[in-house]
Amino acid sequence: MATEDYIYLDYAATTPVDERVLEAMMPYFRDTFANPSSVHRYGQEADNAVESARESMAGILNCQKNEIIFTSCGSESDNLALRGSAFAARAARDANHILISPVEHHAVSNTAQQLAELHGYELEYLPVNKYGEVDPDDVKNRIREDTAIVSAIYANNEIGTINPIKEISEICRANSVLFFTDAVQGAAYLPIDIEELGVDLLAIGAHKFYGPKGIGALYIREGTDIIPNLTGGGQEYGLRAGTSNVPYIIGLSEALTFAQSEREERYNYLKSRRDYLIQQVFENIPSAHLTGHPEKRLPNHASFVFEEVDGNLLLAILDSNGFACSSGSACKTGDPEPSDVLLALGLHRNLALSSLRVTLGIMTTDEEIESFIEKLPSAVKQSKK
Ligand SMILES: *Cc1c(COP(=O)(O)O)cnc(C)c1O
Repeated sequence: MATEDYIYLDYAATTPVDERVLEAMMPYFRDTFANPSSVHRYGQEADNAVESARESMAGILNCQKNEIIFTSCGSESDNLALRGSAFAARAARDANHILISPVEHHAVSNTAQQLAELHGYELEYLPVNKYGEVDPDDVKNRIREDTAIVSAIYANNEIGTINPIKEISEICRANSVLFFTDAVQGAAYLPIDIEELGVDLLAIGAHKFYGPKGIGALYIREGTDIIPNLTGGGQEYGLRAGTSNVPYIIGLSEALTFAQSEREERYNYLKSRRDYLIQQVFENIPSAHLTGHPEKRLPNHASFVFEEVDGNLLLAILDSNGFACSSGSACKTGDPEPSDVLLALGLHRNLALSSLRVTLGIMTTDEEIESFIEKLPSAVKQSKK
């Protein structure tokens, strides 16, 4: 995607809304605008739309309709999963131990830290290997009777690495401990069959797969004890108060439908171009190292560190050359601290501060990639410290 001479290569931060998704949303702003909780027929019409979106998502996730809770974003889904299950597990069985990977999104890690600092939970981090991958055996060795919840991200937003979710869920289930995965990046290009993954809780957000910002969902396995974060009306089975955002719920459901029905096509399109990009970067820039797993990674995701390079300067130079990239987490703009995720891989602080994330999307063209590959070597040279 390009506007005039500017090329967007930051699809892990967010994606533009698919035209078909936008079209599907429009009637719910103007015509079917009523509050789905209203008893009158306008309300019922809106309610029907929300419930058929829920039904269609349940079909895609291979779960029951009543296991899907709509939220306002991926972050809210992460918060509800963590805080909701931690509070419930403490109330039910005095479980106070929280076990998470060190490569979680901040919506998970900062929530877990708040639970530790403000509510006295014992927070433990799992180790990861140099690719940022969790070893299921480490979960097996650290899980306890008083573990309230285990959390491991499905596919990492900064380094693209995919975790062995099915294997981790099996261990958690054998120990009767809840397992949550943040699939906000993963849902865009990976399978999200709940039965296959075996998770108890799974978070998604529409804007990472060509849907609108400000809408997400949390899958909650039936029978899971969750204390709501947002109290008020009885919407979303009493687990998330607030008038349903009807057009955005429709947008989420439509975007997820396309993400999964066109998944293989998108996967193959992106992976071949991403592989080419990585290969070209290695060929032209000897100081480049890939971060994250070389194979077990999101198909659109390339992330690097460059020896002796100032990552923020590199981003600024790329920006002025007409490329929108990222240094890792989008939330870190202007923050000179190295990313926790990159440090968790064992990277030295200076190397972690030289990171570049290039993420492709279904709108990315071969010309855009060629143009990027052509400009990157000189931008890296200019960013040497
Ligand atoms: C973007 C993202 C989030 C946050 O989702 P929002 O909808 O932006 O709140 C959480 N986890 C991961 C892995 C993400 O990429």
